[in-house]
Amino acid sequence: MLVYLNGEFVPKQNAMVSVFDHGFLYGDGIYETLRAYGGSLFLAEKHLFRLQHSADAISLKLPLPLDRIGGALTETVRVNGLRDAYVRIQISRGPGEIGLDPALCPAPTMVITAKQFTDYPQNYYEQGVSVAVVETRRNHPLALPPSIKGTNFLNNILAKIEAIEAGAYEGIMLNWEGFVAEGTISNIFSVRDSELYTPGLEVGILEGVTRGLILELAARAGIAVRERAFPPEELSMADECFITNTTMEVMPVTRIDGRPVGTGRPGPMTARLLAAYRNEVARCLKT
Ligand code: PLP
Repeated sequence: MLVYLNGEFVPKQNAMVSVFDHGFLYGDGIYETLRAYGGSLFLAEKHLFRLQHSADAISLKLPLPLDRIGGALTETVRVNGLRDAYVRIQISRGPGEIGLDPALCPAPTMVITAKQFTDYPQNYYEQGVSVAVVETRRNHPLALPPSIKGTNFLNNILAKIEAIEAGAYEGIMLNWEGFVAEGTISNIFSVRDSELYTPGLEVGILEGVTRGLILELAARAGIAVRERAFPPEELSMADECFITNTTMEVMPVTRIDGRPVGTGRPGPMTARLLAAYRNEVARCLKT
């Protein structure tokens, strides 16, 4: 594997960053995860747009213009001879003296890795996965805005630990007011009476690229969409539930806190939106 490190491709074993990098010392950095299908990055411009948003939000000047970052992402997939890939770009504040002032770090560190994408087990899609509503609350937007895709991930890791202890595949965090926010690495949707519900951005969530496309596809299909705050009890009463992210696309959720969702099987709206998502991937690949 060749890793992009500050403008060069280096073999994995030589891809090292300083122990004084503020990404390592303080979790001071941002990242994006993208998926490549057939050698093409899917929705790359949306991920780049969010990368810029995250950079601005932490007062980090990106080391390259966005179009050149896009080129470096594509090049990393290409030099590794990959078609279906999991691609991650991480930009940290860079090496500097110990201390919190970003001015201590003159040059950010930019790393891109790409590895072969391995499909999730088929039964996750056929039978659905389980989620647990965890005690750990999603960061308050006035403390650490969830809209920043930052490498400071302890909030999500604490929630993940709880989910693992509960035997669940994904942990669902509530916001500071007790409304459903999002998963540790995913956005959440529910379906009730053929209407699609998902927490609004004001709830304090990451504006998922996949979430955005699902909202667009649902609107195009004439499905009524309600973006608003709702309590966890509404999730439990849903007919269907699913989670989304760039790698899992649309993953049915069939158990919440050990109880079945609806019939306990992935529902028709989930299947319809997953199919619409995959159609969109195929359409983008052709153009
Ligand atoms: N929410 C969180 C906290 C995430 O970490 C992620 C992705 O990793 C998502 C939502 C989904 O975002 P996307 O659809 O852009 O992958």
